[in-house]
Amino acid sequence: MDIQERIRNLPKVHLHCHLDGSVRPETLMEIALKENIPLPAYELEELKEHIQVQNKCLSLKEYLKKFVYPISVMQKKEYLKRIAFELIEDCSIENIRYVEIRFAPYLHISQGLSEEDVIEAVLQGIKEGEEKFRVHSNIIISFLRHETIDKNLHQLQAAAKYLGKGVVAVDLAGNEDDYPPELFIDLFNKSKVMGFHITIHAGETGIAENIEKSIRLLHAERIGHGVSAIKDSNIMKLLKEKNIPLEVCVTSNYNTEIIENINDHPIKQFYDRDIKVTVSTDNNTVSNVTLTYELCLLNKSFKFTVEDIINIIKNGIEASFCNDELKKKLLKELSQF
Ligand SMILES: [Zn+2]
Repeated sequence: MDIQERIRNLPKVHLHCHLDGSVRPETLMEIALKENIPLPAYELEELKEHIQVQNKCLSLKEYLKKFVYPISVMQKKEYLKRIAFELIEDCSIENIRYVEIRFAPYLHISQGLSEEDVIEAVLQGIKEGEEKFRVHSNIIISFLRHETIDKNLHQLQAAAKYLGKGVVAVDLAGNEDDYPPELFIDLFNKSKVMGFHITIHAGETGIAENIEKSIRLLHAERIGHGVSAIKDSNIMKLLKEKNIPLEVCVTSNYNTEIIENINDHPIKQFYDRDIKVTVSTDNNTVSNVTLTYELCLLNKSFKFTVEDIINIIKNGIEASFCNDELKKKLLKELSQF
């Protein structure tokens, strides 16, 4: 069995996966045609150029433009449910045993749905997916940095109704350069008091201090990306001391030009310096990758062994926001592999 096949067969967990960035292109096309939603191209390969990164973008802001078309077809319950269900099916194909799916409900209410409708539709999709494909999952609700405080607080209230019923955590995503963590202290204080787990996109675009602020001010239990931690020894120390896991997404970081070459990514340095590294895709469709591909990259570009990769999957199980019973089950499956 070659290494790619071994990695594909390993029982994996996926912690950082955006629903709107992981819509199958075929599904996007089909819904758009049915609903008369304008697309930039009506031939599948051509459409992919508009919704997938071709090698590199110029910035995170450019990368985020790829989400416009998927979001346009995610405005009805039946489609949200279908897209969530298909993502669970995609997980099962590469033996992902547990996935945390994140999205911002208020991006899906332009045609009259409430935020509750959106969350319920996605929950329905993952529930049916779990029944059919035996893949476990939970939901993380994302707040977007550029949205108003009122809108974020409103979304938090909606999310709270589903806490413990499939929704486990909140996240902060989007333009990190212009909206520093201190703007969101109240939002995340409230989230913490309510009992949400917290993960924050930070240090994705070069501002290392956002990582520290996310931990100290926003109660981050995990950090999305965290690439720029490598520039600051105090932040490396903090991550290690507090045992804060990083949700590393190598190809996505390459797409957004945080690193110039794949080999420049600091993931091996994080791992060698005992930072708790986990690996995710960020966006299966936008970055045009699978979790298997990202884990194979560790071996190919950074000389991680299969044992290292198993260790990283174990980190993911330990860092996940699922309950202890499921964690035990996932660890057992991995150890029996
Ligand atoms: Zn992300």
